[in-house]
Amino acid sequence: MSQKAFDELDHLQALIAQAGHRIEVDILLDVRYHNQVFPVHCITLGSKRVDAPVLAFFGGVHGLEKIGTEVILAYLTTLIESLDWDYELMTRLEQCRLVFVPIVNPVGVYRGTRSNANGVDLMRNAPVDGTGRFRLYSGHRLTRRLPWYRGDESQMEAEAEALCRVVRQHLFSAPVAMAIDLHSGFGIQDRLWFPYASKRAPFPHLAETFALKALFDRTYPQHVYRIEPTSNEYVIHGDLWDYLYDEFNLNRSDDQFFLPLTLEMGSWLWLRKSPLHLFYRHGWFHPLLPHRRQRILRRHLILFDFLIRALLNPAAWARSSASLRKTHHEQAMRLWYGHD
Ligand SMILES: [Zn+2]
Repeated sequence: MSQKAFDELDHLQALIAQAGHRIEVDILLDVRYHNQVFPVHCITLGSKRVDAPVLAFFGGVHGLEKIGTEVILAYLTTLIESLDWDYELMTRLEQCRLVFVPIVNPVGVYRGTRSNANGVDLMRNAPVDGTGRFRLYSGHRLTRRLPWYRGDESQMEAEAEALCRVVRQHLFSAPVAMAIDLHSGFGIQDRLWFPYASKRAPFPHLAETFALKALFDRTYPQHVYRIEPTSNEYVIHGDLWDYLYDEFNLNRSDDQFFLPLTLEMGSWLWLRKSPLHLFYRHGWFHPLLPHRRQRILRRHLILFDFLIRALLNPAAWARSSASLRKTHHEQAMRLWYGHD
């Protein structure tokens, strides 16, 4: 029997071949699945300095939501093509580093499943217990046959460990670092989520996050995102970003900043326009019509460009005076946590 195609991995490997020496490629892990081996690639562009600011992109944590992988591959194509002629981009990349792990969970993307080959939901797999009101989707250890299974308590899954290694290596030493993890399938709006996901409490860099949102709102008043803590929508166990953020926060120096963002693309938007897609499992998480897919592949370029510019200009949002920081914190508490 011939093996089924793996378009996203083929696309990524073609891009790596095309980019040649202009990018660095690491194989984080080889994931075995029956008689096949799928590599997990990490691609870096730009400054190699340990103290360079860093923006990192992650996709395919939930294999079924593979539009995230496609958005990253489309953006990588644009960047690699631009490296041929755009000197302004090259100047930017001398000052910062971009990191990409487009297919964190290759078996999931290949099979079209949320979990990895062991039936584990990687975004429920970190050793963090949430506090709040729980549903099955918050994560459980009942059985790997149900979705949202957290996996073994004593050992994280290899794909989740690989993601953590990348974050520790590239982001924990940076003066300013951001990560953006691309998902789809929740609601009718594109959401940008920040910690915490495990509890309904403000995270330590709330003031800077509010300042970043204010900067985005005033620079791009037409942007499409609802920006909020994940816990505004639900509380979960095992969130990798809560786990990594808390580890960073324990060890960081005073002026270091790390913001993990989740881009949750509102796929009900494309379902609402084509309700028949409810009958296809992929339709819930992935736009099936070509024009809709094209639109999503270009929809987030403004956000990515903004994040790089924000990374290179932290004075505009991440380096405020103590009094301005206090004001931002109070405004954030009113906006997101219902404080008067
Ligand atoms: Zn997801």
